[in-house]
Amino acid sequence: MAELGFIGLGKMGSPMVVRLLAAGHTVHVFDRVEQAVAIAVQRGAKAADSVKAVADAADIVLCSLPSPAILQQVVTGLGGIAEGTRATTVIDLSTTGPRTTMAVAATLAGGRLGYVDCPVSGGVPGAEKGTLAMMVSCPRPLYEAVAPVLATMGKLFHVGEQPGQAQTLKLANNLLSAAAMAVSSEAMAMGVKAGLDPQMMIDVINVSSGSNTAIRDKFPRAVLTRSFDYGFSTGLCFKDVRLCLDEAEAMGVPMVVGSAVRQMLSMTNSVYGPDSDFTEMVKLVEGWADVVVAGRTSHPT
Ligand code: NAD
Repeated sequence: MAELGFIGLGKMGSPMVVRLLAAGHTVHVFDRVEQAVAIAVQRGAKAADSVKAVADAADIVLCSLPSPAILQQVVTGLGGIAEGTRATTVIDLSTTGPRTTMAVAATLAGGRLGYVDCPVSGGVPGAEKGTLAMMVSCPRPLYEAVAPVLATMGKLFHVGEQPGQAQTLKLANNLLSAAAMAVSSEAMAMGVKAGLDPQMMIDVINVSSGSNTAIRDKFPRAVLTRSFDYGFSTGLCFKDVRLCLDEAEAMGVPMVVGSAVRQMLSMTNSVYGPDSDFTEMVKLVEGWADVVVAGRTSHPT
């Protein structure tokens, strides 16, 4: 079995490492936060003291990192994975956008390291349960080689051979997810202000034509409970929608509704901070409408 490496032990990376360990892999881990490494080691991972140390110990290195610039630095920068003596494959599980992916793949082209573009969807619950949607773009032989490792974390979709194709699909998905959260916040605030019970609204909309992922998952779990702990930060969601709109603009694809979603995230980011949960977007609308969309006091099982 190939030795694995994992860099970026955050909300998504930590549970993904748990799945890889449970499947019997040896996983060498690094994060710039020592506590995150310590927790992974308690769960059976092996600590590495730098990015390069991971790539000296592992054949395949997976990354789950917060921004395109950090991903680029970690893979091709000074002391990066490309300088490692053992690694032959890098898998980027982060949302970094097609242009960064293409730039990193171009830098690595012709060298020893194969590059797998593999953004994921399904959030922290999907990472914990191993039910993520894993969008993969890379040459077919490389896909076949890494598929058994990726399959421990979710369902695989080989969307193309070119680096960046999976990132484009992921950005389209996240625009839709953020748009659902934004417009559902408005619909729920209107209903509650008119006196409707929010749980009843959710039950009806879930079996009606307005159903969407925000009404299905985010409102019951993180808004009605007021826990705002869905597990996806406003800063990262804002980053994804910005990447999406930048990409669309560069391609000449107008995004009128997407621009409004970006504004909602920009305001949520300013008012509640980048570390807030992106479900806190509803609080903006609640403040403007002078209403609170509250319901249950604990998570539904
Ligand atoms: P996070 O901020 O919780 O985790 C990122 C981790 O990377 C942190 O532990 C941080 O310390 C570490 N890190 C940052 N710079 C580093 C460096 N130079 N070297 C080593 N470690 C470094 O983010 P997350 O929510 O786990 O998301 C990770 C990626 O997955 C992002 O690109 C995000 O857009 C994407 N994503 C997130 C979700 C979600 O629901 N949270 C879902 C799908 C995709």
